[in-house]
Amino acid sequence: MPELPEVETVRQGLMPHLLHQRVLAVTLRQEQLRWPVPRSIIQSLPDETLVAIDRRGKYLLFQTEKGTLIAHLGMSGQLRIVTKEVKPEKHDHLDIIFYNDKVLRFTDPRRFGSILWTEDCPHQHPLLIKIGPEPLTDEFDAEYLQQASSRRYTAVKAFIMNSEIVAGIGNIYANESLFHAGIDPQTSCHTLSLEQCKKLVVAIKDVLVHAIKQGGTTLKDFTSAEGKPGYFAQKLYVYGRANQPCLVCQSVLRQFQLNRRSTVYCPTCQV
Ligand SMILES: [Zn+2]
Repeated sequence: MPELPEVETVRQGLMPHLLHQRVLAVTLRQEQLRWPVPRSIIQSLPDETLVAIDRRGKYLLFQTEKGTLIAHLGMSGQLRIVTKEVKPEKHDHLDIIFYNDKVLRFTDPRRFGSILWTEDCPHQHPLLIKIGPEPLTDEFDAEYLQQASSRRYTAVKAFIMNSEIVAGIGNIYANESLFHAGIDPQTSCHTLSLEQCKKLVVAIKDVLVHAIKQGGTTLKDFTSAEGKPGYFAQKLYVYGRANQPCLVCQSVLRQFQLNRRSTVYCPTCQV
């Protein structure tokens, strides 16, 4: 499942191809995604110019003067640039064709992704309005995190994966951030000190920034027919490394399920 760095990489990859480009036509082949794709985009988008491509959490916002196309990749969604000559395949549900001959193609075998349209402020959309601060902004700091955690009794890992607390952190980067902050994933939120919140905020920002930087190196494949940014070949310290030695202290990493998600941690480094 794409997390914030993957979505940000997609955004950065699409920008040079699509920003300030005008839509020629929309081809919708499959409306039944997580929510029905509004057919109105077939009429609304042509002749509109993309004035911005923004991201909020794991949502991409394709902004025009008239309204905003909101896209979420779900479990298996991909957005890529192809030329008109590239024939659509089975799971290619939507093409947005631009006057510059580029086609933005949405592919999603499992169809948990979404494509929505709003002519109001996208940040007021029901799916976006409750999303917490962006982790890479100054709004997300230790004071905020401590205040948000002080009366909660959930495990800190579930807490940072809650998009109402902070946007866009999924299982991989939650595991990694807690390792770098030296915090046991099961720690109850209300016990977190300001010092621990500081370490956690720094770790989350570092892990995400590093992942986005790594993602940049995959952009060269972005326009190839099979190009998908996928997960980056970055160094993961705990995720996917259960029962292997900790890269810092050599203790054997432990794994358990927390809210049905694989959780890996070092019993020595994380307390
Ligand atoms: Zn360790």
